[in-house]
Amino acid sequence: MGQGVLSPGFSRVGGVLHADGVSLERLAHEVGTPAYVYSLARIRSQYRRLETALADAMPDVTHRLHFSVKANSNLAILRTLQECGAGVDIVSAGELYRAREAGFGGTDIVFSGVGKTADELRLALEAPVLFVNVESEGELRLLDEVARAMGAVAPVALRVNPEVTVESPHEYIRTGEKGHKFGIPYDDAEAVARLAHELPNVALVGLDMHIGSQIATWEPYASALARIRPLFESLRAAGINTLEWLDLGGGLGVTYEAEAPADVDRFAAGVADAVRGLGVSLVFEPGRFLVAEAGVLLARVLYRKRSGGKEYVITDAGMNDLVRPSHYQAYHRIEPVTTPAGHLVADVVGPVCESGDFLALGREMADVGPGDLLAVHTAGAYGFVMASNYNSRPRPVEVVVDGDRYAVATERERLEDLVRLERAHLQWRSA
Ligand SMILES: *Cc1c(COP(=O)(O)O)cnc(C)c1O
Repeated sequence: MGQGVLSPGFSRVGGVLHADGVSLERLAHEVGTPAYVYSLARIRSQYRRLETALADAMPDVTHRLHFSVKANSNLAILRTLQECGAGVDIVSAGELYRAREAGFGGTDIVFSGVGKTADELRLALEAPVLFVNVESEGELRLLDEVARAMGAVAPVALRVNPEVTVESPHEYIRTGEKGHKFGIPYDDAEAVARLAHELPNVALVGLDMHIGSQIATWEPYASALARIRPLFESLRAAGINTLEWLDLGGGLGVTYEAEAPADVDRFAAGVADAVRGLGVSLVFEPGRFLVAEAGVLLARVLYRKRSGGKEYVITDAGMNDLVRPSHYQAYHRIEPVTTPAGHLVADVVGPVCESGDFLALGREMADVGPGDLLAVHTAGAYGFVMASNYNSRPRPVEVVVDGDRYAVATERERLEDLVRLERAHLQWRSA
């Protein structure tokens, strides 16, 4: 991969952590902290890894990789994946806008999401997207109306909840179990599919599932496909012969701590088995898998403190910059950019006025002090996209690295940006 035996990404050169050919110490000096830094080479290699596994396992099945934009919606990342040949999976008008800005054509886009508005559905049909993943009977009827008003026929894939057990590290990232808000309950799916077939302004072109995230094993996919395939076959047997797509969603897991990453060869072989003879084209919606390990959040240590017998490392990055530790109790590996001697056990916390503002709890780590630079790993997915301005903190800069070059992809917000949409003078209107 042009990097010797190392896979592209983060490694030490002369004791200093680098993103490919760029020193993170140097970079932090140039762009400040907190900063998100992404290795484009790592994103490309993840894409190729999955693409190759799927192509090798099913040379005779058409498949497309549609990157789940919500994992990392930066335009530079989207353009990189577009150059790799990816499409996108979007969940809002905002993501549609970003996808178009990044150069994706309408048919490079599938539109998912449990709560699309009429306006969003109209924008999707104007694109027009490859298909809309419809999640309820109500949405199906609304889409039919919106399409009729536009004189269009909307291509629809029904997102079915296969109601399987999903092994993933946090309840919030399971989406395919019985009673979840996502998708059409399995027992209702056939009836909704028949309705889709009958409504004049929608065309039922496929079925869709997305069972959760950070999934490390093949089993949940196997159970889900064992439910979706018979449904597919029964609809075809009922004379619905417009079904051409099966969208398997995303969910492939990565390594945050010591988890085995998703075995993509096993996954590809399993999918190949499960769809053999079905005569269908496949869509995959990987998010985390493509970008998580390509990103770090750089933070500077501000203070050390002892309280109640506990050590605290206080950094300039907080839960508003990276919410995963506090929202999902997620583990992120943290290492100093240069290596100080000694060890300590500490809570790594941010400046936000919340006791839930932490990057790590009870973490065994290097003995860092004020001024030291930390890299919070595996921050390329669900990192910056979930950042907020809580405590009126400007959101961090985003930087992309390509070989030994880097570029600012998103400028750090300025203080003026924080009040940009607020009115200095209120214009009162009578109701
Ligand atoms: C979030 C999401 C994905 C991506 O999930 P990952 O675990 O990041 O791969 C794919 N499809 C849908 C519908 C999603 O909501």
